[in-house]
Amino acid sequence: MISRLFLFFVFTSFSLLAETTVLNFNNGSNDDYENAAKLSGDVRKIQKETDGLLPRLKEGNLYDVGDNEVKITETDKYIIYKTNNIPDHELYTNNPNCAIEQSYTFKIPKEPKFLENPRTITKSYQEIGIALNGVVIAGPFDSENKIAPYNRQIAQCGGHSDMQGMYHYHFAPMCGEENFLISDTQIGWAFDGIKIMGLADRKKHEPEIDDCNGHEHDGDYHYHATPDYPFFMGCFKAKPYTSNFNQKRKTNASCPAEMSSSKGGPDGPSGDGPGKGKKPNFDNASKVLGVSENDMKKALGPPPGDFEKASKKLGISLDDLKEALEVK
Ligand SMILES: [Zn+2]
Ligand SMILES: [Zn+2]
Repeated sequence: MISRLFLFFVFTSFSLLAETTVLNFNNGSNDDYENAAKLSGDVRKIQKETDGLLPRLKEGNLYDVGDNEVKITETDKYIIYKTNNIPDHELYTNNPNCAIEQSYTFKIPKEPKFLENPRTITKSYQEIGIALNGVVIAGPFDSENKIAPYNRQIAQCGGHSDMQGMYHYHFAPMCGEENFLISDTQIGWAFDGIKIMGLADRKKHEPEIDDCNGHEHDGDYHYHATPDYPFFMGCFKAKPYTSNFNQKRKTNASCPAEMSSSKGGPDGPSGDGPGKGKKPNFDNASKVLGVSENDMKKALGPPPGDFEKASKKLGISLDDLKEALEVK
């Protein structure tokens, strides 16, 4: 597979980060990502099979939905984050979803209750922690039970929104004032009360990072964000506070009417994908746009399909739709 060892950062605008960690996103072929997205089971095996592969990243359009609001209080047992889940940094979207203001209360146990058997983070866990800015940190899987950063495309800050308008990170946050790509900076909290520290290279950062993606040094057990699977945590080493998982509300999110035009950054995986001809690539479009194949076909109508009508129906610009379907 890919043997390149570490990390070349592709965006010159992030010069601050360039000194420390350079991330070469989109460094796999379509096949690499498709195969990687399907992996499951043994953590070490997944890491071996994805060695050197970085997530798919696509720069998105800038939008604005208001300010970050986080209130942090404490009790004897918990640190309590009341958050609107709007990041304190610029927001971009590369899919049809945008963040909307939420009203979440997350309780972080001050004294983690370590478990005899760590609890594996499966597809059923979408939110697994929060960043210090009060924004959700997500588990590695998406709604198709595939590894999200390989199956989807993260935007340039390391996250994106889902259909309910819940913004969440799939990768160490790359925007904002703090440099979360440094391994000894705290990024956030896991729901079990254990710290999540900045991006670490498991081949260099000692002692060995375990299957939950954590380890103990200087008298402290903590997780790390990593550039490879599981990106944040593979399991909860301690007992997570359960009501944190029930914060999400079923809402229908839409994007603000005014959005900047596409920045035209790196465009999905490098290497030429399939379907450059005229036949719509529904598989790709459904991944890129987060719209089911069925919904897209319905919106398009009978072949060859009315793209303009579908664009309005789906609320996706004609350009984006055609690009995702690879019919441009
Ligand atoms: Zn996601
Ligand atoms: Zn460490």
